[in-house]
Amino acid sequence: MIPPGSTIGILGGGQLGRMLGQAAAQLGYHVHVYAPEGNPSAADAARAVTRAEYEDQRALAAFAESVDIVTFEFENVPCATLEKLAASVPVYPPAAALGVTQDRLAEKAFVRKLGGCTAPYAQVDSREDLSFALTSLGAPAILKTRRFGYDGKGQARLASPADIDAAWAAIGQQSAILEGMVEFDAEFSILLARGQDGAERCWAAPHNVHKDGILDSSTVPAPGPIHDQAPVAADLAGNIADALDYVGVLACEFFATANGPVFNEMAPRVHNSGHWTIEGAVTSQFENHIRAICGLPLGQTALAASKVTMHNLIGEDAGRWKDILSEPGAHLHLYGKGEARPGRKMGHVTRLYR
Ligand code: AMP
Repeated sequence: MIPPGSTIGILGGGQLGRMLGQAAAQLGYHVHVYAPEGNPSAADAARAVTRAEYEDQRALAAFAESVDIVTFEFENVPCATLEKLAASVPVYPPAAALGVTQDRLAEKAFVRKLGGCTAPYAQVDSREDLSFALTSLGAPAILKTRRFGYDGKGQARLASPADIDAAWAAIGQQSAILEGMVEFDAEFSILLARGQDGAERCWAAPHNVHKDGILDSSTVPAPGPIHDQAPVAADLAGNIADALDYVGVLACEFFATANGPVFNEMAPRVHNSGHWTIEGAVTSQFENHIRAICGLPLGQTALAASKVTMHNLIGEDAGRWKDILSEPGAHLHLYGKGEARPGRKMGHVTRLYR
């Protein structure tokens, strides 16, 4: 067990690290953030900050010396970085889990092996592969880079074979997968916390609405179809976590379809669709992540209101902070980022309904 008073190292400096830092501080931990960027959002919730690249061996060695445990808030941290740190300090979630989720192809194959249903897909390593895959899967379809995609980036839609060249160019001619379009009624996610002892807790599955490939809102309880499909999806998420010997919060995204839940992707970390848990659940995803990695008992995940909504504040939306503050029952979170660029997540607002 890593007791309160210890120092938690967080790789990545974004808003997820910031909210993990806030939860860690509440439980009496100190936080050391390691991130390559200047002025990381997470720095406001940390006692120490190292600014260095993830491949900087000297900086990593010094970081490992200064912390009692390491976690990450960013899934594109190189696996080799986690493995190096794990040689001298506990690292959770395990590097192997990160490895599976960093590659869409490996991730989908892994989930299918566990009996999960995914979109039909094909590996694409060349323009010829893409043409062949589109013939076999049929249009429309989505081309996604195998690695480093997030928030709809690294993706291109193909309405017909005429889009092949543009799509292949749009993703930078990298290793990719082509996915058949899933006809879904709604999107939802399963957020699960798994402790070092294998204990698991799930929150209510939020109904997630995306705009331009970016999460716009999450609502719990979710409407009927999601409510009905969530238990099957939660079972799969539990099997995934067990198979990975996972420790921490795991987020799995699903499509609710006429044939049941279809797995889309997962993230080995706290997730935007779980931000509502800060005020909307007995224990937040951030607190349970800290509890899990430190070997503390997990907190209850029950809803704290009859309905909870979370809306992201993207780009200029964050300028509405004054209005939001004057709304009764609205909880405003701003991430302390500088420029409100279009598509940039600047904050979120959670509303509780009694
Ligand atoms: P992703 O980055 O894979 O989560 O994709 C971003 C969004 O694109 C998803 O939340 C869906 O709204 C949509 N999307 C992704 N893959 C598919 C698919 N195979 N079929 C239909 N919609 C998809």
